[in-house]
Amino acid sequence: MSELPFRSLSPYLRARFGREVHRVALDAGSTCPNRDGSKGFGGCVYCDVDGSGNAELKSGFQLAEQLERGIERVLRRDPNSGVIAYFQSYSNTYVERSRLKEVLQVVEPYLKDRVCAVSIATRPDTLPAEALELLSELAQRVPVWIELGLEAADDALLAKIKRFHTVQDFSSAVERSQAAGLEVIGHAILGLPGDGREGARRTARLFAETGVDGVKVHNLMVLRRTQLEQWYRQGAVAVLDTETYVDWLADFIERLAPHQILHRLSGDAPADERIAPTRQVHASEIRMRLLAELEGRKSRQGCRLGERSQPVP
Ligand code: SF4
Repeated sequence: MSELPFRSLSPYLRARFGREVHRVALDAGSTCPNRDGSKGFGGCVYCDVDGSGNAELKSGFQLAEQLERGIERVLRRDPNSGVIAYFQSYSNTYVERSRLKEVLQVVEPYLKDRVCAVSIATRPDTLPAEALELLSELAQRVPVWIELGLEAADDALLAKIKRFHTVQDFSSAVERSQAAGLEVIGHAILGLPGDGREGARRTARLFAETGVDGVKVHNLMVLRRTQLEQWYRQGAVAVLDTETYVDWLADFIERLAPHQILHRLSGDAPADERIAPTRQVHASEIRMRLLAELEGRKSRQGCRLGERSQPVP
């Protein structure tokens, strides 16, 4: 058992792979059913036009070149480092089988020594059997992580924020992915409109029940060129202050299962893209405050596992 009150990613990666491991974010040029019209146009209300991507991905390099350059960048900092090839933007399994096969090929030259894991971000409703089959084949040779956006365990809220999938879609995708030999990382946002503190607890309970292997969580951020920006400017939505976020995050972690790895505890977005919160609190500060909060409560990850819904003070 870790001495930390939660399962932190870095020690887990060091113990699992025997060295430091860094992510290389990749843009495979996919799209998303919430943008191409098959489910909706305009995307989830908080998603900017880059598809929840990363500014580093705007380079326009071909995929193999992105990976090669990313690995070079990592190795300049740490020549012994391993790499997680992270297909980040949009829904990476929302493509033809032949395209997914082509995309996955780019990691092949690095599987023996450099790429320790392949991580694929996608939606729970864009995971057809043929994609799982390809990923399952790859998972025979390298750990494959599927990052599934749930965001909140509430169908009415998922409809309101225009996710256009259900909680059941998520649970089913977790089950099918794990049956295919993949590891699943669930994604949550705390502070979505109307979700509240009980929503944070509910989402953690759902993650514990579905048995996802890891969790990424962050506070709601309002980015430019999103539908959320309009709601924010109209006063229809607010963001959490740091104290409240850490308080709810502690609630969330207490309700996860003890083995689930916390891959992320906070969000970040470039200052010129972010409208709220106005001050970006660094991940290390969130972590420090969280440790203090859990210590103050004398609690830890999983200590409220299985606890049913309680009135929120
Ligand atoms: S599913 Fe992902 S990429 Fe698509 S609109 Fe929503 S957040 Fe953006």
